[in-house]
Amino acid sequence: MRLSDLKPGQAGIITKILGHGAFRKRVMEMGFVRGREVTMVLNAPLQDPIKYGLMDYEVSLRRSEAHLIEIVPIEEWERELDHKLKIDVEANDVLSEPISKDRIINIVLVGNPNCGKTSIFNIVSGAHERVGNYAGVTVGAKEGTMKYKGYQFNVVDLPGTYSLSAYSPEELYVMRYLREETPDIIVNVVVASNLERNLYLTTELIDMNRSMVIALNMYDELEKSETVFEYDKLGKMIGVPIVPTKASTGWGIDKLLDTIIQVYEMRSPDTRHVHIKMRNEVEDAVRKLVDSFKADSSLSPKFSPRYLAIKMLEKDPEVDRMLNDNPNYPEWCEIRDTQNKAIEDALGDDSNSVIASEKYGFIQGALAETMKVGKIQEEGSTKIIDAFVTNKLFGFPIFMLVMWLMFWATFQIGSYPMEWIEMLVSWISEQVGRFMADGPLKDLLLDGIIGGVGGVIVFLPNILILYAFISFMEDSGYMARVAFIMDKLMHKMGLHGKSFIPLVMGFGCNVPAIMSTRIIESKSSRLITILINPFISCSARIPIYILLAGAFFPTHGAWVFTGLYVLGVVVAVITARMLRRFWFKVDETPFVMELPPYRIPTAKATIRNMWAKAKQYLQKMGGVILFASIIIWALSYFPQYEVEDIPEQYQKEALAEMPQSTVSSRSSEEIETLIAREYQQEHSILGHIGKFVEPVMRPLDMGWKTCCSLLAGCAAKEVVVSTLGVLYVGDDDVELLSDKLQTPSPVTGKMPFTPASALGFMVFVLLYFPCVASIVAIVKETESWKYGLFSIVYNTALAWVLGFIVYRIALLF
Ligand code: GDP
Ligand code: MG
Repeated sequence: MRLSDLKPGQAGIITKILGHGAFRKRVMEMGFVRGREVTMVLNAPLQDPIKYGLMDYEVSLRRSEAHLIEIVPIEEWERELDHKLKIDVEANDVLSEPISKDRIINIVLVGNPNCGKTSIFNIVSGAHERVGNYAGVTVGAKEGTMKYKGYQFNVVDLPGTYSLSAYSPEELYVMRYLREETPDIIVNVVVASNLERNLYLTTELIDMNRSMVIALNMYDELEKSETVFEYDKLGKMIGVPIVPTKASTGWGIDKLLDTIIQVYEMRSPDTRHVHIKMRNEVEDAVRKLVDSFKADSSLSPKFSPRYLAIKMLEKDPEVDRMLNDNPNYPEWCEIRDTQNKAIEDALGDDSNSVIASEKYGFIQGALAETMKVGKIQEEGSTKIIDAFVTNKLFGFPIFMLVMWLMFWATFQIGSYPMEWIEMLVSWISEQVGRFMADGPLKDLLLDGIIGGVGGVIVFLPNILILYAFISFMEDSGYMARVAFIMDKLMHKMGLHGKSFIPLVMGFGCNVPAIMSTRIIESKSSRLITILINPFISCSARIPIYILLAGAFFPTHGAWVFTGLYVLGVVVAVITARMLRRFWFKVDETPFVMELPPYRIPTAKATIRNMWAKAKQYLQKMGGVILFASIIIWALSYFPQYEVEDIPEQYQKEALAEMPQSTVSSRSSEEIETLIAREYQQEHSILGHIGKFVEPVMRPLDMGWKTCCSLLAGCAAKEVVVSTLGVLYVGDDDVELLSDKLQTPSPVTGKMPFTPASALGFMVFVLLYFPCVASIVAIVKETESWKYGLFSIVYNTALAWVLGFIVYRIALLF
C-alpha cells in the first residue's frame, strides 16, 4: 500500500521510501523514515497536495510523491512484525544470502572519550583500530560492517565527546555527523563506573529524540566493585534500553546487537520518548521556543524542536549557524533573549548552568533509585598508584625510568630476534647468489631487493617492542598521567599537557601523532605541537640508529640511542619556545584532562595492536621501501660501463690511491673488477646526483654515497638504510651491512663512516626533512602549505648545523 492511498484520519507505518536521489533525501529529511507513523490529515481542495501528520509536524506532499512511499496500515503492522520475526530465524541460517536495502542498519557509536567505543567497534567490525586509555585517540569517523542475524550493520566510530555543544573540534564533528548522516540507531556507550558524567551526554541525546540503545560498558568494573545497579529499571525510566557489555572481552555484544535489531524493528518494550523535565522557568522558555519552531514548517525535522530550543537557550554556536538563515531567526533570538533574562532574573544564574544542573539533578535522581554503590575498589588502587606516579618527587624519575626501559628493551632485547632474521636474510642471499645465473636480474634481486628490503626488515622486532611499550602506556592509563605531570613543563614551552601525548605517540610514527593533535583545543598550541612533532624520533629512524650505534658504539649503544631521542626532544622544546615567542601569540587554555582509572590492558588487545603494527610495517616494506630500493638500485646500475669504457687516467689514479693491503692481497684481475665497480657506481645516475650534493655535506664528512641515502630517505626514513645497503655492495666476504660500514673501502681505503661522522650522520637523520607522509599530514592538518614548507627548510637547516657541531665535538674525543 502507498501513502497516497490513505483516507483522511487513517494512519500507517512507513516501510520503504521508493524513488531516488534528491527526492529520497528530501522526504527522509522531512522525517519520512522507515517505521515512523504517518496520519493523513486532509486533502487540498483539488485533491493535491495532501497534508500528513508526522511526529508533531504537519507536512504536505504531492500525491505523486506520496505514491513513492510504501506503508502498512497500522492494524496490519503487528502481524507484519510477527512475520519479520520468522524471517529473522530463517535468515540466520543463510547468512550468505545477499542483504536487501531495508535490512541494513546504520549505527553510530557515541560516548565520552575513553569509554570503549573503539573497542566495541573493533569487535563488531573485526577492525584493528587503535584503542587507548585517554581522551582523543579516535579522530574522525571510522566505518566498518558486520552481518548478524540476517542484518547488515554499518558501524561508525565517532570521536569521544562529553556533550553535544560545539566547543571542541570533536564535539562539533559529532554534532555535525548526527545532523547530516541521520543514522538509524545511536549506540550511546557509557562507562559503568562513571555513570553520572557519562549520562550527561545521554540526556542530550534523549533531547534529540533519536532511536537509541545504551551500551553499559566496562560492566566488569561494576561487578568487581559489587555495585548493585538495576539498569533495566533505569532503561525503562529514560525510555532507552540498556545493555551491559564488556568490550575488552566481547561479552554482551551479541545482546547489544539483538537489542539494536529490536529497537530498529520497533518492538523494544523499553523504547519511548521521555522529556527530561527541568524546572518550570526553563520549561517555560523551552516551550515558547518549541511552539515558535513548530509554527515554521520549513524547519528540518531532523532535530527535535525540544533539542533545538534547549541548545538555543544555551546559545550553542552551531545551532545558531543552523538556524540563522531562517526568516524567523530574529524572532527566535528575541524569544531566547527575553527567556534567558527571565531565567537569570528568577534563578540568579545563566541558563547554561541552570540547564546543566537540572540535567545532573535528573541523573542523580535516576541513579539514586536504581543504583547502590558498593566498595569503590578500582578507585582505591588508582589512588595509590597515582600517589607515586603523579608525585612531585617521584613522578619524573618514574617517567624517565619507563622511557629508558623502553629504549633499552627496544635496543637490547630486540637484538636477539634481530640476529635470527639477519641470519635468515643472509642465508637467502647466499642461496640466490649460488643458484642464480649472473645477470642484471640477479643483481637486482641481490643488491636491489635483498640488500635494500632485507636490510630494513631485520628491525621488525625492535619496532614491535617499541609499539608494545607505547600501546601499554596508552591502554593502562599511564599516558594520561604523563600528560598530567608534564603539564607544568609544557606550559613553560608555551604548550599544554595535552600536547605531550602526540609527542610520545611520535616515537611510534609521526603521522598518526600529527593527526592526534586534534585533541588540543587551542589552535596555536596545536600548530606548535604539529611543527615540533617531526623532531620526535619515530620508529622508522630506529634502523639507522641500531645499525650505526651498534656498529660504532657497541658497548654504549643504548646510551647513544637514548641520547638521540633526548636530543630530538630538546630540539623540539627549543623550537616550541621560539615558535611561541616569535610566531604565535600567547594563548592559554586551561588544562582539562581527566585521569581515567588504571586498567590492565588485555593481552588480546595488546597483541592485536602489535599485529596491526607488524602488518603496517610489512606493508611499508612491500610498498615504499621495495619501490625505493629498486629505483635506487636502478639509478646506481645504469648506465652500465664495461671495463674498456674506463679511462686509463681513472685507473691510474685509483691504483695510486688504493691501500697497500688491497694491492698485496689480490690478483690484478680482482683489482680491476673492484675499480670497475667503483667507477660504475660513481658514474651512474645516482653517482652524479650524490656527487652534486656532496659539497654541501662535506663539512660533516659525508661521502656521496651517504648523500644519496639521505636524499632517498626523504621518501621514508627506513630507505636511508636500504640505500646504504644497495650502495655499499662491499667486499665479497663481508655479508652484513653493519660490517660493511666498518670496513674500509678496498678501492679508496677510506672508511664509510668513522665513529664521529656516524654520530653526526645520526643527528642529521634525526632532524632533517620529515618524510613525505609527515609533510602531507602537516599540510593536511594545518590546511596550509606554509607549515609544510617551514618544516622542510627549518628542519633541514637545523639538522645541518647540529650535525656539524656534533661531528666536530666528537672529533675531539
Ligand atoms: P574510546 O576512547 O571510547 O574509543 O575507548 P577505547 O575503545 O579506546 O577504550 C578505552 C580503554 O578502555 C582501553 O584501554 C580499553 O582496553 C579499555 N576497555 C574497553 N572496554 C572495556 C571493558 O569492558 N572493561 C574494561 N575493564 N576495560 C575496557
Ligand atoms: Mg576511540
